[in-house]
Amino acid sequence: MTESANPYRISRLWAEFVDPAMERAYRLHMQPLLARHLRVALWVWGCLLLAFGLQDLQALGMSDEFLILAGCRALQAALVFALALLLPRYPGLAASGYAVTALEITGLVLFLPIYFLRPDIATITVMVLALMLLAMFLFVPNRLKLTLLSAAVGVTLILVSIWSKGLGADVIIGALILMSLPVVTGFFATQQLHTVQRRQFAMYSQARRANRELKKEVERRRLLEEELKRQATTDPLTGLFNRRQYEMLFRRERERCRRQGSAICVAMADLDRFKALNDEFGHDGGDEALRHVARLFTSKLREGDVVGRFGGEEFIILLPDTGVAEAERVVERLRQALEEEPLMVAGSPCSLTATFSLSLVLDSENDISETLRRVDAGLYRGKRSGRNQVVVV
Ligand code: GH3
Ligand code: MG
Ligand code: MG
Repeated sequence: MTESANPYRISRLWAEFVDPAMERAYRLHMQPLLARHLRVALWVWGCLLLAFGLQDLQALGMSDEFLILAGCRALQAALVFALALLLPRYPGLAASGYAVTALEITGLVLFLPIYFLRPDIATITVMVLALMLLAMFLFVPNRLKLTLLSAAVGVTLILVSIWSKGLGADVIIGALILMSLPVVTGFFATQQLHTVQRRQFAMYSQARRANRELKKEVERRRLLEEELKRQATTDPLTGLFNRRQYEMLFRRERERCRRQGSAICVAMADLDRFKALNDEFGHDGGDEALRHVARLFTSKLREGDVVGRFGGEEFIILLPDTGVAEAERVVERLRQALEEEPLMVAGSPCSLTATFSLSLVLDSENDISETLRRVDAGLYRGKRSGRNQVVVV
């Protein structure tokens, strides 16, 4: 994979995924966590604002200056608490970062009056601002570039304020150096944190993708296995059990019936004058007729009965837990159904019958071929004596 095609590449400077789709996926994934962290930060921020208000009252009393400051703090606290209250319903506000950036910049603007209204603590105010900038990086979840934007606005505002008071360049440079300390520290600490978080997300996504692909592969193999099994056990033309499968089912059912002391019968059906049908309608027409017979037999038999294709136009029917008399009734029903059910071959109606031979499986017969030898003789008799009938042997 080339470097540019790697969707997990993280920008060194801004500690975000270079691929916008991946960055969106990351923020969506982190949204609930970011919203929770931001909510905590906002509540702390709002409470600190109100606590500082008390200090203003102590220092200024009920003066105009106090009222202006209190107004600024109250407005800011209201905005902070409003965002905190909105977050549970709109957690996307935390992930996009624009709302909190706007709030940070508004907060910095509303903080500035204190610098002018309380000249007695001007130096402390600058120090507090420096702490605020550091807290913004470390405590308020936001995108690194947006936090840097807020910090740049804050630094510019304080430097302009100092300059507007007519203080010298040395004081401005001193303040700039003082401000750069929290900004640089905050920036690099956040950069590292964001990079580590995104690397973890990349690993998590890769593991999830590998897992998904593995699941898909397992499913593909399962379907393939099922298909192979189906192909190995069924006749492709009719979907009926093939010889290997009904021989196996015969052994299994015979064993079960023997254990339970119940009878099992085997019948064979051979379509009458099928060669003529093939000659008239072609091989495809013959195939269509074979599928019709398969569907018909399957639909008329019980669930435990087994229908297989012996080959050509001959079918095998296993009737477990069935005595001869009942088996004869079942097979006679099949014969009648075949005779009566309308069959269309190549768009033309066509009549189709079969000769059936049926026998009880004897105790001495362990293999289906032993029974079938006797059944086949019955079939021959049925063909000779007029076809379209059931012969019991
Ligand atoms: P009978 O009443 O004596 O059974 O007459 P028949 O024509 O059915 O007997 P025969 O066994 O001589 O012919 C069976 C024909 O079945 C031969 C062959 O053309 C046809 N056949 C066998 N397998 C298939 C198949 O898979 N598809 C098609 N369309 N025809 C098949
Ligand atoms: Mg035949
Ligand atoms: Mg035939």
